[in-house]
Amino acid sequence: MDILEEIEKCKSRTSRSDRRDLVSSWTERELYQDDLKDVFSVIFRTIGCSWNRASGCTMCGYYTDTNPDITQKDLTDQFQELSDKYSGEEIVKIYTSGSFFDEDEIPQEFALKVLKFLDAEKVVLETRPQFITEDRLQRYSSEVKKLELAIGLESSNNFVLKNCINKGFKLEDYLEKRDLVFENQSLLRTYLLLKPPFLTEKEAIKDLTNSIEQVSHPGNIISINPVNIQRGSLLEKLWNERTYRPAWLWSLLKVISDVGNIDSTVISSTVGLGSERGAHNCGGCDPEIVELINGFNLTQDLEPIKSRLKNPDCSCYYQWKKELQLEPYLNFRGRVGILSDRYAGYV
Ligand SMILES: [Zn+2]
Repeated sequence: MDILEEIEKCKSRTSRSDRRDLVSSWTERELYQDDLKDVFSVIFRTIGCSWNRASGCTMCGYYTDTNPDITQKDLTDQFQELSDKYSGEEIVKIYTSGSFFDEDEIPQEFALKVLKFLDAEKVVLETRPQFITEDRLQRYSSEVKKLELAIGLESSNNFVLKNCINKGFKLEDYLEKRDLVFENQSLLRTYLLLKPPFLTEKEAIKDLTNSIEQVSHPGNIISINPVNIQRGSLLEKLWNERTYRPAWLWSLLKVISDVGNIDSTVISSTVGLGSERGAHNCGGCDPEIVELINGFNLTQDLEPIKSRLKNPDCSCYYQWKKELQLEPYLNFRGRVGILSDRYAGYV
């Protein structure tokens, strides 16, 4: 299997959006400076991620929400929709299924207008590192009280970035821009994946634990994204072929409980948790475990998670333990076909 070819095939078979309105908006609560704050999140529909236009990541299907013909007028209409829905929440997160700092996607004049309009304590924007420049950091951050840049690093291991994710940048690119963000007095949010394609469950736990330790830094919020199966991704093909199972929620609990004394706040996305396409357990214990993760996100209290791992109270815990032991000896096709001998010895 050639990963790049397969990504292109998946993209060519999957339809993209023909709509021009906001993809979505919603509200939630999040911990910020030791207080729970209201969060308004919005996804702009744009021409999509520059990397997806050039190639794409193995787990990403966000391009299905984008439209190559989006114009400035469409963006302005979406901004109108945003301004109707925004009711002064303290934190605003703006997603684009790509990079807010990419001026091909979001022209700078428009970006600054949106930021100026918001009256939030903090605005979170997503971008690939290549679009972070000192000039943009200064201009964009001057329009808001506090700017937080979110980067999907996914893993701190360059082998995983290249061969499992096809991320299109390296850890070093991230680190360089991380320093620039901090020099500019802005905040950083780093997304890390739990279980990229082609890793066993055990390797995925280790990869995420290593990554958390490596990118921990004061002012950096580490947000774990347990991988979910997105429509039109190469990962969906692997999942359909039964060569990929989303992570167990037990794995997520283990990683969180192992987080030692680090300088970062760690939270986990709960998107898709407990569902067939998201990280899940047996189905029976899932709602309780998702509650534990929700609770941890809001309180940063590790104790309930640690005590659940000591008293798992569900037989699937032992199935998960067994799988961690046995999976390395199973040669499933997706892994052997792509990573071959080069992979031996990692983690
Ligand atoms: Zn269970």
